[in-house]
Amino acid sequence: MVLLLIQTLSGFTVPEGKDRHQMPWDFVVHAAPDFRSEIMGSFNAQTIEVTYRNGTGWARMRNHDGNNWWVYLRDNRRFLPSGTLLHDARDGAPVAAIAPQMARVLQQEGNWLRVGTWLGENWVQWRPEPPRPIQHHMAWSFLTYLTPDFRAPRQETLPPQIVEITQLRDDGWGLISTPAGDRWIYVRDNMRYVDREVALYDKPGGTERGRLQPQVVHVLQQDRSWFQIATWDGPRWIYLRSAGQPGERLIAITFDDGPHPAHTRRLLDALYERDVPATFFVLGPLVASNPELAIRMVNEGHEIASHAYNHTDLSRAGADRIRTELTMSRDIIRKVTGVTPTLLRPPYGAQNSTVQAISAEFGWPIILWSVDTRDWETRNVNAIMRHFVDHTGIRIRTGDIILMHDIYPTTIDAAIQAIDLLLADGFTFVTVTDLLMERYGTIEPGRVYRQG
Ligand code: ZN
Repeated sequence: MVLLLIQTLSGFTVPEGKDRHQMPWDFVVHAAPDFRSEIMGSFNAQTIEVTYRNGTGWARMRNHDGNNWWVYLRDNRRFLPSGTLLHDARDGAPVAAIAPQMARVLQQEGNWLRVGTWLGENWVQWRPEPPRPIQHHMAWSFLTYLTPDFRAPRQETLPPQIVEITQLRDDGWGLISTPAGDRWIYVRDNMRYVDREVALYDKPGGTERGRLQPQVVHVLQQDRSWFQIATWDGPRWIYLRSAGQPGERLIAITFDDGPHPAHTRRLLDALYERDVPATFFVLGPLVASNPELAIRMVNEGHEIASHAYNHTDLSRAGADRIRTELTMSRDIIRKVTGVTPTLLRPPYGAQNSTVQAISAEFGWPIILWSVDTRDWETRNVNAIMRHFVDHTGIRIRTGDIILMHDIYPTTIDAAIQAIDLLLADGFTFVTVTDLLMERYGTIEPGRVYRQG
């Protein structure tokens, strides 16, 4: 369940080094970069942290609770919706109702804005959307409190139900109305129902430590699709892909040999717009020279994995050299992104039993592919696209792992076309780890995988 934080917040601190933007007037955030899209909350004038700018004035704003809603950054311009009333003076009678239009904001006084329109300078009332209650499903009986504090005297115990939360704090407490009066409840989703048997691990991607039967679990922390839960034997990790529906046609698109400063950036922008996750098998020196792109990969939901450090042919290398390549690759990815990679794609797909054995030492499976687009060879969009669709129709099958290289402009053009085509055909893109976990339920270190 997604919880929306709908409340007016005054300033919070944007960490040093982040992309900041000063919003001089009160402002609203939207669900999409479109004034007609749903308003998700309103904020007081403040400095905000921008995580993405789309180039048309809209940006994503990082919020307290991790939500990334859209905000219109050309802050001296404000969209006045249909029927907005213009007033000659603050608190005066309206003089005109206007067609929807952009206006320049000249001044703000409380709930009033002085705006410049085609009709001249007028005052309009700035009415942020009133906070709407958030519907939240309380799956178990729950306690109520007079203040948002577990040490406060307990009030009623209420049965499982859908509650309307009129104020949600980012520490997990929410305010509800009950027949007995206003009550605080703790709404954090720390309980979760696991609907199938899953493996228990000592750490994400680690060693299996038994099985868990379907049951309600207490979630201690989450690391992407990995959840640490409390068990009788202490904390254990389980893998639960957060999205996903039965019958989905899952595929994984992968990009090797980057990150490239220009082409990977364009690809990441396109993936972000489409909310498509990819898997990047990166090279050490390029991660070191393009750290911001490696960080973007992680922050934007992609999987970052090892392509060895120097694009060495591991099948011709000795054991020591292989270990050095994998160690350096793992360490640079971890140093730059904070994420430890868990997959290896050997350069050229070249591998043998030694590579498999050493990959297993690292806990990594070897990821090859089922669709080779030959993009590095043809560098031609039409030629690349023929691997996705030809006169017989779409050539991609559920479970495919698609191989591309994000270091050629033609690859990026073709990848965008192919992704749009496959999305329209109903495929769902997932990372390689998600694809293999959905298909096999576990991933064996050292094993060679060509598809999910
Ligand atoms: Zn390569």
